This record gives sequence, structure tokens and C-alpha cells, in this order.
Amino acid sequence: MSYVTSLKCRECGQDYPISPLHVCETCFGPLEVQYDYAKIRAAVSRQAIERRPHNLWRYRELLPVEGEPEIGPCSGFTPLVRCERLGAELGIKKLYVKDDTVNHPTLSYKDRVVSVAISKAREFGFTTVSCASTGNLATAVAAHAARAGLNCVIFMPESVETGKIVGSTIYGARVITIRGNYDDVNRLCSEIADKYGWAFVNINLRPYYTEGAKTFGFEVAEQLGWRLPDHIVMPTAGGTILPKVAKGFKEFREVGLIRDGEFKIHCAQAAGSAPVVHALHKGTDLITPVKPDTIAKSIAIGNPADGFYVLRAVRESGGWGDVATDPEIIDAIKLLASTEGIFAEPAGGTTLAVAIKLIQQKRIKPDETVVVAITGNGYKTVEAVAQAIEQPCVIEARLKEFDALYERLGGSRRPLAGAA
Ligand SMILES: *Cc1c(COP(=O)(O)O)cnc(C)c1O
Ligand SMILES: [Zn+2]
Repeated sequence: MSYVTSLKCRECGQDYPISPLHVCETCFGPLEVQYDYAKIRAAVSRQAIERRPHNLWRYRELLPVEGEPEIGPCSGFTPLVRCERLGAELGIKKLYVKDDTVNHPTLSYKDRVVSVAISKAREFGFTTVSCASTGNLATAVAAHAARAGLNCVIFMPESVETGKIVGSTIYGARVITIRGNYDDVNRLCSEIADKYGWAFVNINLRPYYTEGAKTFGFEVAEQLGWRLPDHIVMPTAGGTILPKVAKGFKEFREVGLIRDGEFKIHCAQAAGSAPVVHALHKGTDLITPVKPDTIAKSIAIGNPADGFYVLRAVRESGGWGDVATDPEIIDAIKLLASTEGIFAEPAGGTTLAVAIKLIQQKRIKPDETVVVAITGNGYKTVEAVAQAIEQPCVIEARLKEFDALYERLGGSRRPLAGAA
């Protein structure tokens, strides 16, 4: 059924059987799932994929699960939105947003990776699933675990947004917040994973979990009419999604679903948590950890596990990267909302703000096809923008009061805050 052959160490190349392992026993390199691409090439076609349900499992041959997928039946296949108004604003003719604000069931890209990780947890016979999270992963693990009937324990930094605590606890998960940042949480969770034998989706199931992120890229390629974009701007936190989207594009070429085509992949980080972009700009492979300080909490990881692979994917593609300050992130959130009707969380504000910089730097040209990744929903992080928006006008329920207000506002058209 599956086309998976083994786990392989990305550094020394040693093979391991498919199991809940994530680092190489000899060199401590990360392990990655291997596939038999020749067999997949013979088995897949565009037409067969197009006939399948609109979820991430339409690319099942390139995902590491056995048997019929049952987790995440409504996850993935989110819209690729053509942005006419935003594109006009930025001077880009073919601008798209890949909109994971409406990924189901928890409104972020994490529903993709968790669907794969929890499928695997069930195959391996785990009864408790867990994760170290900056927030969105927590809500996704909690929701998918509930539906799968698994116990769930969530670890997050204490500073996480309320929506992410409520949005995990509601599913029956045990939520534990840690006095420390994400990197502290992650360190603790590695110890807990060893001692308690739970399935930590982003630690001991990491090789399977990360494969789910490829579907973001698969969908972009299919939705562009089985073509690659000239540019894609991706956020980076721990460094999962960016290299996996690049891998997804290359796999589609490898198995013949798309013809040759080049793409540039660009990395976006918040200025207050940008260790990867700093290394990229310095031209080094050495990522110096930072202490995160940004409103973009879901991407506030100061010591990214896969930062090196982000650098490699960006450089190999000829892409670039930049940072966005908190005010730039907020402006970009408002701009996307007021031009396209899409409310992104700060991670999305970060990618759009960085895309704007890449356009200004002329790294992205007006007639090229550009995809901006919007990976999470602003309704989960209202705190981030609540103070930065126009406050509502309050009046009594009397026509005269409204007349006076209307007069004062100078007509019916609301000033478009942020759409400068
Ligand atoms: C987790 C997350 C990311 C990216 O994280 P990686 O670890 O780099 O894959 C981006 N956006 C949102 C909203 C997230 O929750
Ligand atoms: Zn190794």
C-alpha cells in the first residue's frame, strides 16, 4: 500500500526501519522518510489525484502512512486565492495567497502535519499523544487526538495567547504551560518523551510529522494548474514547513506530476525572532540562537531544530529572506484583511510584510507568479491587533445620533485603515 522504504539519516545516510525514531544513533542527525519514487511515478497521475476528496490525503502516495487514512478527513486542500486588489496595491500581476487560515479543524497549517503524525501514532500503537507547541500545534494535536480517541497532553510557553489555551483545553486535552520560552518547553519535552514513552508529534514522530507539511506545496502546484510559482514566501519557526514545501515541489517533478520548472523559496521571520534570516544575510551556516521577543508568537522559536535545512533550501533555490518588525506585521495583517478579506495571524503578517520587502528590493518582479503563505488565522490571536485598530463608534439607538455621527465621519465610506 505505501511507497515508504525506510528512515534515513540526513547527515550520514544510515538507514533505519520505520519506527518512532527521530535522530540517528551514530551521528545524531535527523531522520527522514524515504520513498520508492520510481514506483510512485508509475502509480500516480494528475487525473487520479483530481478525482479524490479535497483533503491532504489526495497525495497519499507521497505521505508515510499505511492503509486507509482516517485522521484529518477535512484537513488540507485550502484555497489558493488570486489577489487582484492586493496585487494592484503591490504592483504584482499574479499574486496569490495560500490560505491556511481556513484549514480544518483548527485554522492553521498544523492540521496538515498533525494529521500525518497522529495517523502514525495510531499505527505504532501509542495511546497518548503530546507536543511542545507555540500554540497552533497544541490546538491541532488536541482536536485530532479527540477525534481519534487518544489521550492528549499539551506543553506550551506560559506567554501563549488565551485563544490557544482555550482552543486546546476545550478538546479534553491536559494543558501544561511552562515558565519559559518555546526552547525551554522543547527541551523539557524531549526528556518527557524519553521517560514516559508518549508520542510527541514534533519530537519522536518528527520524521512523519514534517512530511505532512509537503502537502502545502503539493496543493500550490496543483492549484496553479500543475505548475510551480516563480516565488513562494514562507514563514520560518522551527524550520519544518519551508524545506518541506521545497521538497514537495521537487517530488512533484521527480514523479512526473509537473514538468521542469524553477521556483525561488523565500524565508520570512519576525525581527524579534530571526536567527535563520540573520545567518542567511551573514552568509553562514551557523545559526546563533536568540531569545524571541515578538507579537508573532506562533513563529517565536529562537533555536530552530531545522534552521540549517531552511538555509539550504533557500540558497539552493536562489531565494532570499527578510524580517518584519511588529509594526510591519500589524500593517500587513490590516492590508491583507482590508484588500482581500482574509484575517491572518501575525505569522501571516510576517510573510506578507517580507514579500513586500522582496518586491521593493526587486527580487520579485511585477510579472512573476508569487505565492504568499498565510499559515494561521487571526481570530486565534486577536490580542495582537486589538490595540492597533480603529475603535468602534458607540451611539444611542436614535436616528439623530447616527445622523450626527455620519456627518462627522464625512460620508458612508469607512476610511480604509492600513490600506495605505
Ligand atoms: C508552526 C507555524 C509556522 C511555521 O513553523 P515551522 O516550525 O517553521 O514549520 C508558521 N505559521 C504558523 C501560523 C505556525 O503555527
Ligand atoms: Zn547519521
